[in-house]
Amino acid sequence: MRQINYMSFKDLSLNKPILKAITEAGYDNPTLVQEKTIPLVLNKKDVIVSAQTGTGKTAAFALPILQLLFDKQDAPKSGKKIKSLIVSPTRELAIQIEENFKTYSKYTNLRTTVVFGGTSIEPQKDILKKGVDILIATPGRLLDLHKQDIVNLDYVEILVLDEADLMLDMGFIDDVKKIERLCTNEKQILLFSATIPYKVEQLANNILNNPERVEVAQNASISNNINQVLYYVPKRNKIELCLHLLRNTIKGNIIIFRRTKFGVEKLEQTLLKNGYKVETIHGDKSQNLRQEALQKFKNKEAKILIATDVAARGIDIDNLDNVINFDLPNVPETYVHRIGRTARAGNSGTSYSLCSADEKAYVTTIQQLIQNQIDVVEDHPYPLDPKAKPEIHKSKKTGSKYKKGRKSTASKKKKKRWY
Ligand code: AMP
Repeated sequence: MRQINYMSFKDLSLNKPILKAITEAGYDNPTLVQEKTIPLVLNKKDVIVSAQTGTGKTAAFALPILQLLFDKQDAPKSGKKIKSLIVSPTRELAIQIEENFKTYSKYTNLRTTVVFGGTSIEPQKDILKKGVDILIATPGRLLDLHKQDIVNLDYVEILVLDEADLMLDMGFIDDVKKIERLCTNEKQILLFSATIPYKVEQLANNILNNPERVEVAQNASISNNINQVLYYVPKRNKIELCLHLLRNTIKGNIIIFRRTKFGVEKLEQTLLKNGYKVETIHGDKSQNLRQEALQKFKNKEAKILIATDVAARGIDIDNLDNVINFDLPNVPETYVHRIGRTARAGNSGTSYSLCSADEKAYVTTIQQLIQNQIDVVEDHPYPLDPKAKPEIHKSKKTGSKYKKGRKSTASKKKKKRWY
C-alpha cells in the first residue's frame, strides 16, 4: 500500500536533527502523502488529507509539526506549553502516533505524551504537569483532563484531527467541536481522514480556514501481492470451514475479522477449545488488555488475532501473512482496509473471505469497488448450495444461553457500542 516517491527528505527542508532521526528509522524517501502534505503544513496552511493508514500519513503531519516547533522549544524548566494537539479516535492509534513522534523527535528537546481513557488518569496527570510540547489524545480523556485544569489548550498552534471519519462514526462530533473551540482562534488545523464523507466535509467547512486538499487515492487500490480468495459457505458451517482452513491451508500469522465483539468472543472460545493460541481485540476490552493482546500477536506468541474493524483500525502490523474475513463487511471500503494489512512493504499475503447466502450482495459491491473478480474456491468440504436462501437466525423466545450476563459492564454503560 505504501507508495514511495523519489523526492528526498532533504528537498522538504527539514532540520538536521529530524533528518537524522528519519534516516535512523530507515526511511529513504518521503511517501506520496508526505511529499504533498509536508510543504503545505510548513507553509502554515490548513489541510484536508484523505489517506489511509499505511500511506505514511502520520509522518506527513508529525514531521512538519516537529519542524515548525523546533525553533520554539521552551526550556523544560520554564514550563512547556502544549503547542500541538493531535486528536485520535482510538487508543491504539494514539499510542502509535506517539511512538512515531518519539522516533522523529529523538534529537530534539520537544516533549511528547499521549493520554487516553480506559486507564488510570493519575500517571497521565503527572507527566502533563511537567509540561509537554505535543499532546496526543483521545477526545473523552482530553476533555476530562481539561475540565480538571490539567490541560491548557490556550497555546495550541497546530491541531490535528486524525481519522476524522472514524471519529465522527464513533460519535465524537460534539467533543471534537468542543476541543476545537478550546484552542486559540489562530491555530492551524490539519484534518486527516481515510474517506471524506459529507459529515467530514461539513466539519471541515465549519472549522478549517481555506484548506488545501491532498488526496492519496488508494481507497480501491489493492496491492498485486495480495492473493484474494472467496469461499461460499452456509453460515452455520463458517466455524468448521475456518478450522479446516487453519488446519490444512493457511500458513503464517492471521487476523480474523468479525463484525461484532460478540462474534469475536464466540470464535475465540471455539479456537481455544481446538487448541489454538488466540488473541482478541474489540471495543469492550480495557486498554491494557488490548495492548497486551496486540503485543503478543506482534511478538508471535499467538499466531491468530481476532478483531472487530473499529478496534483494529489504524493498527500497524508489519509482516502479516493472512487475513480472514469471517464475516464479510457491509461497507466495501472496509474490505479494502482489512486486506490491505497484508502484503505490506513488498511482502505477499492472502485474504480468505467466507461468504454465506445473506452476504452475497456484499461480494457484488466489493467487486465493483475493487473492479476485480475475487477467485472462488469451490473445492472445500462445506459448499453452499447456489440456490440456498439466506438462513434466518431464529432466537428462542426464552432462555437464550447468551442472554444473561452476555454484555460486560463497559458495554452496558456505552449502549451504542457494538464494535
Ligand atoms: P502510517 O500510514 O503513518 O500508519 O505509516 C505506515 C508505516 O509506514 C509506519 O510503519 C511508518 O513507520 C512507515 N513509514 C512512514 N513514512 C515512511 C517513509 N517515508 N519510508 C518508509 N516507511 C515509512
